Amino acid sequence: MSRLDQRDVESMVVESHRLKMTPQRRAIVDYLQSATHHPTADEVLKAVNEKFPMTSRATVYNTLNWLKGAGMVREVYEGGHVRFDPNTSNHHHFICRRCGRVEDIEYELIGNCQFDLLPGNQKVDIYEIILRGVCAPCQTINKQ
Ligand code: ZN
Ligand code: MN
Repeated sequence: MSRLDQRDVESMVVESHRLKMTPQRRAIVDYLQSATHHPTADEVLKAVNEKFPMTSRATVYNTLNWLKGAGMVREVYEGGHVRFDPNTSNHHHFICRRCGRVEDIEYELIGNCQFDLLPGNQKVDIYEIILRGVCAPCQTINKQ
């Protein structure tokens, strides 16, 4: 499994010779690397602003784009929102229709799909599946 790591970002910055690691950027990476809920850019901004109240939306967006370009985070599109995922390994997602929670599902947990019969004769390398339903906490709420 490969996951966003502050140390990898630091070495990338050193190698690039043109980017600077600011406290805000560091806070963005810190927040993202421990985030398991696939935050939106606005959620990242809100979290980083608690530590650095002067962090601009542009700083957050630029940093996210830069991490994405470097393959250190990936995007998950859901309901018109872009969410950011520090887990860059192949994996699937489960999305709760009640609370919107986006959870990782291990790639291996879903059996091989049969792609031989695709009408356009496309060659599939990887695939991402979105499972939808009700997450465990929401099921508990329903029972109360
Ligand atoms: Zn839920
Ligand atoms: Mn994910």
